[in-house]
Amino acid sequence: MNLSKFLKVKCNDCENEQIIFGNAATAVKCLVCGRTLAEPTGGKAQIKTQIIEVLE
Ligand SMILES: [Zn+2]
Repeated sequence: MNLSKFLKVKCNDCENEQIIFGNAATAVKCLVCGRTLAEPTGGKAQIKTQIIEVLE
């Protein structure tokens, strides 16, 4: 999957839906509960939660 896009994800813990950038250079946390949703790994983000939708 090409992750150089915006992704709509759902937090596994609190079900908050959030838009994140698939190429995030820094860790992305859930705005509601603080769970880590994505971590940077060698240039690409590793998504640690459910991806609901890939946005164009
Ligand atoms: Zn959450």
